[in-house]
Amino acid sequence: MALDSKIPEGPLADKWTNHKNNINLVNPANKRHIDVIIVGTGLAGGSAAATLAELGYNVKAFCFQDSPRRAHSIAAQGGINAAKNYQGDGDSTYRLFYDTVKGGDYRSREANVHRLAEVSTNIIDQCVAQGVPFARDYGGLLDNRSFGGVLVSRTFYAKGQTGQQLLLGAYSAMNRQIGRGKIKMYNRHEMLDVVIVGGKARGIITRNLVTGEIERHSAHAVVIGTGGYGNVFYLSTNAMGSNVTAAWKAHKRGAYFANPCYTQIHPTCIPVSGDHQSKLTLMSESLRNDGRIWVPKKLEDAKAIQNRDLKPTDLAEDQRDYFLERRYPAFGNLVPRDVASRAAKERCDEGFGVNKTGEAVFLDFAAAIVRYGKEKAHVKGLDENDATLIQTLGKEVVKSKYGNLFQMYEKIVDENPYETPMMIYPAVHYTMGGVWVDYNLQTTIPGLYAIGEANFSDHGANRLGASALMQGLADGYFVLPYTIGNYLSDDIRTGPIPTDTVEFEEAEAKVTSEINHFINNKGTKPVDYFHKRLGKIMWNKCGMARNEKELKEAIEEISALREEFYKDVLVPGSADEFNEELAKAGRVADFLELGELFAKDALVREESAGGHFREEYQTPEGEAQRRKEFQFVSAWEYKGEPKDAELHKEELVYENIEVKERSYK
Ligand SMILES: Cc1cc2nc3c(=O)[nH]c(=O)nc-3n(C[C@H](O)[C@H](O)[C@H](O)COP(=O)(O)OP(=O)(O)OC[C@H]3O[C@@H](n4cnc5c(N)ncnc54)[C@H](O)[C@@H]3O)c2cc1C
Repeated sequence: MALDSKIPEGPLADKWTNHKNNINLVNPANKRHIDVIIVGTGLAGGSAAATLAELGYNVKAFCFQDSPRRAHSIAAQGGINAAKNYQGDGDSTYRLFYDTVKGGDYRSREANVHRLAEVSTNIIDQCVAQGVPFARDYGGLLDNRSFGGVLVSRTFYAKGQTGQQLLLGAYSAMNRQIGRGKIKMYNRHEMLDVVIVGGKARGIITRNLVTGEIERHSAHAVVIGTGGYGNVFYLSTNAMGSNVTAAWKAHKRGAYFANPCYTQIHPTCIPVSGDHQSKLTLMSESLRNDGRIWVPKKLEDAKAIQNRDLKPTDLAEDQRDYFLERRYPAFGNLVPRDVASRAAKERCDEGFGVNKTGEAVFLDFAAAIVRYGKEKAHVKGLDENDATLIQTLGKEVVKSKYGNLFQMYEKIVDENPYETPMMIYPAVHYTMGGVWVDYNLQTTIPGLYAIGEANFSDHGANRLGASALMQGLADGYFVLPYTIGNYLSDDIRTGPIPTDTVEFEEAEAKVTSEINHFINNKGTKPVDYFHKRLGKIMWNKCGMARNEKELKEAIEEISALREEFYKDVLVPGSADEFNEELAKAGRVADFLELGELFAKDALVREESAGGHFREEYQTPEGEAQRRKEFQFVSAWEYKGEPKDAELHKEELVYENIEVKERSYK
């Protein structure tokens, strides 16, 4: 099937407005006769569910947690971008558009990114109206801070809990509709297949995770807002339950999967501590507003620090290498994540790492504490030369900005980051790849939509900080509610979709057979054993640096591991009860297929771009080297096995932005 991205005609800045003016609408009375299934109630799915229900559609919403409030979105710490230009520092819709396309290393769709920048400002107004407590400055106006890859302050935040506060906003809006009976909420339900009737998505098969019951649900359209697949690496900053199953099942039913190899490895995470760990912790990028990243200049100092013979605070200033400030003076510590992560890895690979495994760099607030302390003393008319006073005042300011993050670090690492620099290392964090969607957010299956992190999104090969919340909420509050109406306008006379049809029967039988396989397999190894091994292959061979030889090895190894998994996995208990191991088995089965496609995609993409770094394609300075012939989105069609997947290319055309060297110097 040829890919049609359905980008509207006309000048870039008018496309969205014109499109909205020209698409079909469904009148309020008819909306009452139309059902929409939304799988996932994180920020993307939750905002979409609330908005569609408010518009009058009958919404059925699903999540696997016991409440929408527990979606992974709640973990988002740092903030959400919007081109409000409240700081008067030169921001604009165009700049947000430009920064995002450049940040994504010129691998995203211009029209989508421009629309995202346009609606970004509406999101803030919407959330403020819901009561989201964004941080405010002294005068009571909304405050902003900076995130990587930009030279303005456009990030709105609620301390280090932005995702939680935004999710409470979306959840309140959903609750209003649940109360009105316009949303029927199915907590603790996991979608295990999409049902296609007459070529259109018309329903899903779910498993009730508490009782084990397999259920059929029908609707006129299905929306997937099921988040990202970073947990294919086993260790990541994602919530433990985040998985690819819904997106992958859609892929197996005909939805193309785009850019699976584009993964974001976030530079500021707490380093891995050992083999028994199941989760990595992010230290928000907002910390790079004030924290300075460094390693010792000399190898012997690095060794002494690794062995704990030297304290970092005892190392003289001129013996420290602030390597981001050195390499990228214009953006300094606020270069984009892919650039910062690679630079940290480069220093650690050269032996300058600072923890006992040599895989950590420092994130240091000493200078910020002094700077803020002096400013505070000056404002209060106190002695700016009193070092103790400056420390006290400075720490108060840092605490007010990042207090909960510092507390989290201290609880996990048992070191006080006000007194000694934090140790950080890159970790898997976000997936730019996902289900391919056109401008309307529709997948290659008519009637099946994908929103939020689950789609291949607007971030190209690298997402800038604070842009995921923006994209998820743009999709849910401001894009999908228009575009899905255009599709549903054909369904005003269709009537309810029956579930007693062969298509539902076939899909249900398939789900049941896979579940029975796991229960009856009686192998010898638990699910996590396979997941950890998959994660190691992914991290070592498809991680921060990739090359042809290792990617080929990864493909072979993952395929063999999948075979072993099906033969030897042990799932205790039965299918008709709460059985977390069973749920995990299904998710890991899908990760084992996705992982192979991931490696295949990375192998085919013979260039470096954003988070995808092929060692064969780098500049003499070690920067990612794009190649013009790879200026496309790779969209994979399922053909039975990951190795047989067929590649389709969506060529990316840049008419409004000059594709040039991606310099942050
Ligand atoms: C630690 C951390 C901090 C972050 N901080 C920021 C930040 O400051 N700013 C920013 O912009 N971005 C941030 N991000 C990224 C951002 O949080 C996510 O990209 C975003 O929240 C994803 O939202 P979502 O709605 O697409 O998916 P999620 O929030 O992951 O929601 C997925 C939903 O799908 C449901 N689901 C999944 N599979 C199934 C299934 N098979 N059946 C039924 N339901 C299913 C889940 O139950 C859940 O409701 C951060 C990410 C992490 C990991």
